[in-house]
Amino acid sequence: MDFETLEAATPERIWKALRAHLQPGRPRTIPVEEALGCVLAGDARSAHDFPPFDRAVKDGYAVQVSDFERGKARLRNVGLVPAGVEWPEPLEAGTCIRINTGAPIPTDADAVVMVEHSREAEDGFVEFGDDPKVGQYINRQASLVKTDELLLRAGTRINAGTLAALVAGGITRVEIFSRPRVAQLSTGYELVEQGKELKEGQIHDSNSIALEELIRQVGGEIVMFGRCPDDPSALRASLELGMANDLLCVTGGMSKGTHDLVPRLLEELGVRWLIAGAALKPGKPLRIGRSETGCWVVGLPGNPVSCAICFLLFGRVVLEGLQGLPIGKPPHIAGILGADLPANEKRPMYQPAEWSTGSNGEIHVSPLVWRGSGDPFGMAIANALLHRDAGVPAAPRGETVHFIPLDLPR
Ligand code: AMP
Ligand code: MG
Repeated sequence: MDFETLEAATPERIWKALRAHLQPGRPRTIPVEEALGCVLAGDARSAHDFPPFDRAVKDGYAVQVSDFERGKARLRNVGLVPAGVEWPEPLEAGTCIRINTGAPIPTDADAVVMVEHSREAEDGFVEFGDDPKVGQYINRQASLVKTDELLLRAGTRINAGTLAALVAGGITRVEIFSRPRVAQLSTGYELVEQGKELKEGQIHDSNSIALEELIRQVGGEIVMFGRCPDDPSALRASLELGMANDLLCVTGGMSKGTHDLVPRLLEELGVRWLIAGAALKPGKPLRIGRSETGCWVVGLPGNPVSCAICFLLFGRVVLEGLQGLPIGKPPHIAGILGADLPANEKRPMYQPAEWSTGSNGEIHVSPLVWRGSGDPFGMAIANALLHRDAGVPAAPRGETVHFIPLDLPR
């Protein structure tokens, strides 16, 4: 494998290394309606003109502009064109036709007058008070998009908006990167599935449930999920099974305890570390590597806050890179600090925080009460990760700080 192991790497260094070494899997072509949440592997081009025909953009009357004199006309109404129906004959001089938004413009009509500028007279005539210009309220064929025009670039995640654009462009099949197949494994003798009664010394496995949702949100497909005790042979078997996928996301047992077996077992199974420990608080035990067979491994600390923060900072980026999304430092936003913060020590830090917008649209961010990285409630209402550089002095309330938004403010 073509990488050096980085020890105690800073977040910036980790993102750089991931950008240098992550590659998306093989693309495949699928029906567009199945592509929600997938990332485009190739540019998507429109299969037809849009609109595919000249159409009305207002409810009103299709007319010939030459019938108008000094902003007035009296024209015979020859019928109605609703949306979805084509008028079979050309529009003759001296006539008009009622037309609805989205309906095809009859041949020889060259403008639409809004119904608000018309008045129905007797004998099937309509009187107009308007000075229409040629093309008024007509959306010409191909005026928005031409056949074969670029609609969406490779690397775009398909959401409701992009899916609608693909369908409007007549695209029926798209080339996408497959969703990474992810194995999620929590390790520790003490872990018990949610809902089960705890015996002395046990806690509920809250990391698995959080990671499952985070992995799904980033487009991963969970194919293996669960817990394994810190028993070498059981753990080895579970890790090996997990490594048959695109990504193995393992939490717990990553650091220096007597039962922290995960790094050594993974090495025995052929994993090479790209990242072996991070200069990060919390997140020192973080590891990221790759197996000989090409499975990426993200090893997260077991402490719930560290686990969530490391996944959000790096696990998410690995998953995005495997799907062909841009790889790099997540966007940081400037906000006004809502509480005093102490000086930060030697390692860069990210901590659970809440951001909001003020009455003038200004952005505020406040650290949340957080009783150490083992606090399983510390991330519960976080919608931001507040960043502190290594060695910065105390920051008073009101100072500008930076954070990674995780969600919109409530
Ligand atoms: P470890 O990283 O295995 O040394 O675990 C560090 C701390 O996190 C210990 O207090 C563990 O009990 C706790 N922990 C580990 N895994 C989980 C998990 N899946 N859910 C909740 N807490 C965990
Ligand atoms: Mg443990």
